[in-house]
Amino acid sequence: MRYTQILLKTSKESPSDENAKNAELLIRGGFVQKEMAGVYSYLPLGLRVLRKIENIVREEMNAVGASEVLMPALTPRDRWEKTGRANVDIAFSPTEKTILGWSHEEMATPLVQRFCNSPKDFPKCVFQIQTKFRNEPRAKSGLLRGREFLMKDAYSFHLTQEDFEKYYDVMTGAYHRIYSRLGIGELTKLVAASGGEFSKFSHEFQTISPIGEDEIFWDEKSETWFNAELADQFEKSKKSAHAIEVGNIFPLATKYSDAFKFGIDGTSVIMGCYGIGISRLLGTIVEIFHDENGIVWPKNIAPAQVYLAPIGKDDAVFEKSDALYNELLKEKIEVLYDDRRDKKTGPGTKFADHELLGIPFRVVLSENLLAENLVEIVDRKTGTVKKITTEKLIEFLKK
Ligand code: ATP
Ligand code: MG
Repeated sequence: MRYTQILLKTSKESPSDENAKNAELLIRGGFVQKEMAGVYSYLPLGLRVLRKIENIVREEMNAVGASEVLMPALTPRDRWEKTGRANVDIAFSPTEKTILGWSHEEMATPLVQRFCNSPKDFPKCVFQIQTKFRNEPRAKSGLLRGREFLMKDAYSFHLTQEDFEKYYDVMTGAYHRIYSRLGIGELTKLVAASGGEFSKFSHEFQTISPIGEDEIFWDEKSETWFNAELADQFEKSKKSAHAIEVGNIFPLATKYSDAFKFGIDGTSVIMGCYGIGISRLLGTIVEIFHDENGIVWPKNIAPAQVYLAPIGKDDAVFEKSDALYNELLKEKIEVLYDDRRDKKTGPGTKFADHELLGIPFRVVLSENLLAENLVEIVDRKTGTVKKITTEKLIEFLKK
């Protein structure tokens, strides 16, 4: 990626209509653009991060045997009438007969029903990564609460309660692996929440952060985090925290299979659903990994590994950095090449942009460094500066 080629312009000004840090840094860094309250465009760098988060989630879903589908966002209203959810206040209805999907039980249940009609077809789990629409009254925390947002939703189908419970645990494991690969494993807690009308519990995955809308509490006796709504089943200790709900898993029992008459040999199929807020995760990660100069992306999801920054006016420096750029690409190392050569873009501007954009390593080339046949490598997280040869640099980056 060449800075001068991609759609990218950073800004020093904080947006006046956003209070949340994630929105401020993602907008200033040109990762996203706000289009209206709770609705954002993803620009090249933001989209790269979003796709990396998606792919981690996708790999872990595939690993637990869930199969990926893509259901429509535009859904028939009569499905929602069957389940009694046609008139919820967060639903957008573009026409009298359609609803923009804000969840997909009404689509997933009849879909799986068509293909699974004998005991040998079970268990089954489908998932999708898709845009959801919700008319959220409180779209105010940047990517944490959108009116249009990206979610991974999975739906599992079982013949026995026992089989469902086994899979619920398997999913719990997959969720823990996802959050730890995203760098937020330690901050993300499994939290007992109300199971609504169908079961005693559901579970939320809550990432501890002061901006979190939820408050979670620790029960010492059972060593469990729980949500406020379960206050009478657990005992609040001194330990509590604000947290962001980044995912949840939910027993659905037979609510949807009954609505669509999905049964095998006269017994209703047992379902579970499993959500992850993909775009909310992007915002959450920025809330956690930033400092006063900008974002500090975890390596696994950074938009690139290297920010290549030639400085000065010397042609030889730019020739050398062009060559290094091509070499890094050949080695499959992702680079954002700050190839700007205009008079206004001095080293200060390039370094500030690198810090705002949060790419793990900055590689600097200059006339003086070239004379010694060295480049400078700066670690975004620690600020450590090292001078090394380009051969050593590639070795180091490939580790
Ligand atoms: P919340 O309590 O935060 O409104 P929810 O209970 O409505 O969440 P679900 O409907 O189960 O959540 O959605 C699954 C996941 O999608 C949530 O765990 C969350 O991570 C994410 N999510 C929900 N609503 C939004 C939103 N408006 N914007 C971004 N992500 C969301
Ligand atoms: Mg909600």
